[in-house]
Amino acid sequence: MPPMNNWSPDSIAAQALGWVDEQTRAITPPIHVSSTYLRDPDNQYRSGRVYARADNPAFDQAEAVITALEGAQETLLFASGMAAATAVFQALQPGDHVLAPQVMYWSLRNWLMSHATRWGLDVQLIDMASPAAVQAALRPGKTRLVWIETPANPLWTVTDIAATAELAHAAGALLAVDSTVATPLLTQPLALGADLVMHAATKYLNGHSDLIAGSLSTGAPRSEAASAHWQQVRKVRAQIGGTLGSFEAWLLLRGLRTLHLRVRAACASAQRVAEHFDGHPLVAEVLYPGLPRFPGHAIAQRQMKGGFGGMLSLRVKGGVNGGVNGGEAAAIAVAAHTQLWKRATSLGGTESLIEHRASVEGAGTPAPPDLLRLSVGIEHVDDLIADLEAALQRAHA
Ligand SMILES: *Cc1c(COP(=O)(O)O)cnc(C)c1O
Repeated sequence: MPPMNNWSPDSIAAQALGWVDEQTRAITPPIHVSSTYLRDPDNQYRSGRVYARADNPAFDQAEAVITALEGAQETLLFASGMAAATAVFQALQPGDHVLAPQVMYWSLRNWLMSHATRWGLDVQLIDMASPAAVQAALRPGKTRLVWIETPANPLWTVTDIAATAELAHAAGALLAVDSTVATPLLTQPLALGADLVMHAATKYLNGHSDLIAGSLSTGAPRSEAASAHWQQVRKVRAQIGGTLGSFEAWLLLRGLRTLHLRVRAACASAQRVAEHFDGHPLVAEVLYPGLPRFPGHAIAQRQMKGGFGGMLSLRVKGGVNGGVNGGEAAAIAVAAHTQLWKRATSLGGTESLIEHRASVEGAGTPAPPDLLRLSVGIEHVDDLIADLEAALQRAHA
């Protein structure tokens, strides 16, 4: 059933586009688990389905919902955010030059600097928040792809999507955006000029911390190169097999139905948490695009609609009288003392998470040692503030 193109994102999400199973009239789709599909007697595959590593009817509705929310032409689901992101790079050629941000999702940065580089990609990490740095690094005719993440882990650095798209396109490069933190509710990168949008669907799109998944969406290809690249991405998924499971696709569709409610709640609470701890005597700095003095605030205000996301970071001051010497020990002590905030990695679930990010990222991380990354869930904001306040006081007691 085609999407109603006058539906708002809330209605698209709530009804998962309103699809009804034609055979059974079921409002919730069945879970398709077949790994293979019947061939026609004359040796053809008129259904278009052959084998579930390449394609799966279990993906159709979730892919269509993400396509509608992103204003995209097409979406592909992947087995993880990393499978989706790495497919974008694996669809390039050895020797191609790509630009990526210095501040970005840590595992992808590691992969780019190890496997991708060994395989022959010429990866250059730059300050993506600076258009002058992007302009200077682009090599017209050589640079095939610019990868950005906004807001970017774990400092929430904001990149101007429209300005970067213009620079990338002028040099003949594609622009891909990791929009995991912004979600399609707040930002639609394709409308701002991006060629590809990637989500760790593990995070907000699913929203319940109970599966690993990824997605890539494309707009109408702007060039032959963009179209060829997308076909290659599809091939990478089918050949390498970074394919989502049927049950995960079904769960993802269920999670998507409440995306708008969850994201709105997380944004509102994150803003309150950020404002509460901004200028707090035990907090050195709050990093959140929704704070007016945050460096990327003006750009975030332009390209994020309805909120600045559910992710923020606190830099904790060192203790004075306790055993807590520097900000690092204090930050780890704060995370040790929270009850409601769960000490765990990941983000975008209904439960709030707290994490000492430098411990996760290790050597070379741009995360300062006193930084705690917070993923704001959908609990009552007063409970979240009180719990963090109590943990800060105990860490400094
Ligand atoms: C989690 C995450 C990824 C990777 O997604 P996985 O599903 O864990 O593979 C990529 N980018 C961002 C911003 C993420 O938060």
